[in-house]
Amino acid sequence: QIYYEKDATLDLLDGKKVVFIGYGNQGRAQCLNLRDTIAQHQFQQPPKILASSLNDKYAATCREDGVDFTTDFRNAASQANVLFLLIPDHFQPGLFNDQLAPVLQKGAVIVVASGYNYFYKKLKIDSTQDVVMVAPRMIGTSVRSLFVKGQGFPCFISAEQDGTGKAHEWSLTLAKGIGALRKGAIKSSCREETLIDLFAEQALFPTIITVFEQAYTVLKNLGCSDEALCFELFLSKEPAEIFEKMADDGFVRQLVHHSTVSQYGQLKGALNFPQDIIRPLVKEFSRVAEQRVLDGKFAEEFTSIEENDTNGVQVELDRLYKQAEQSDLAKGEAKVRSRLGL
Ligand code: NDP
Repeated sequence: QIYYEKDATLDLLDGKKVVFIGYGNQGRAQCLNLRDTIAQHQFQQPPKILASSLNDKYAATCREDGVDFTTDFRNAASQANVLFLLIPDHFQPGLFNDQLAPVLQKGAVIVVASGYNYFYKKLKIDSTQDVVMVAPRMIGTSVRSLFVKGQGFPCFISAEQDGTGKAHEWSLTLAKGIGALRKGAIKSSCREETLIDLFAEQALFPTIITVFEQAYTVLKNLGCSDEALCFELFLSKEPAEIFEKMADDGFVRQLVHHSTVSQYGQLKGALNFPQDIIRPLVKEFSRVAEQRVLDGKFAEEFTSIEENDTNGVQVELDRLYKQAEQSDLAKGEAKVRSRLGL
């Protein structure tokens, strides 16, 4: 099901206080979009907006934007009828459970932009409160720039916990407020959003990365140059254009833009892809979806990294980057970038 502007009103916002926890990527974009939507609407008592973040570059941006701002998360949360939780996912349970939940009013609406923490039951939420997901499928800068141009952006929405009896209505109101109904918002759930998101991150894209790396090594061994391979595989941005054409013309139909030889080669190759490669791949995809994501093994692993060391995630990321930069493709690319000054 897809919801559009006509399916929602802003009436629930009348006289309410909306608090944004986090003023980064999504926080700033959603806050400014809501502010501008509110300004164009007639309310009996216009809603008020307050943003809260740590006192650093985001705080400075917030002040420049003219948005009411405080570094006192608890105080901000205590005033909230609606609370947008827009700090990085791995910091949300700590801040929310320790500082925000104890002061949050009964019947408040909690808004998440990702299903992760709600799906894995990491947030302590009172049964009188609503939890809604409004999850743009876009980075924050695009959420803002498309809104300013009068355009919309794709978004998943859901009502996850209905403490007030109005959670669904709230999800539509808030989606409309940030401009997410202009192009239509897709009815989803925290489970679905988490499954699709983590599956793409942990199965689909790792497969694509691995396939590109193996293709590089095979062709390098057959005498192809680092330059030719890097440009063919990604530096030319041709793959990015192909993905754009998939969105415009169709996942398969975009092939009509390629040469006849290419169309024949791609269709024949995809339709006849060896079953003995597909079968284990499907098994691996199912393992990631069912065990790593739905059964929560990944979330457990990630939490244990954070719990062992406050800087654990960054240390682990640095180690993984170092390891990934050992592939033939990464080494070849480094040479090409240095030779061409890229
Ligand atoms: P950001 O990394 O941009 O969030 C930065 C904000 O969080 C800043 O205000 C920052 O303050 C604050 N912050 C960071 N660490 C802490 C902390 N430990 N305690 C309190 N505040 C902190 O987050 P995103 O906007 O990327 O993500 C927010 C939510 O949106 C997440 O749920 C994410 O999954 C979702 N989302 C993100 C998308 C994206 O494009 N990035 C797309 C769709 C959904 P300071 O810098 O001062 O620490």
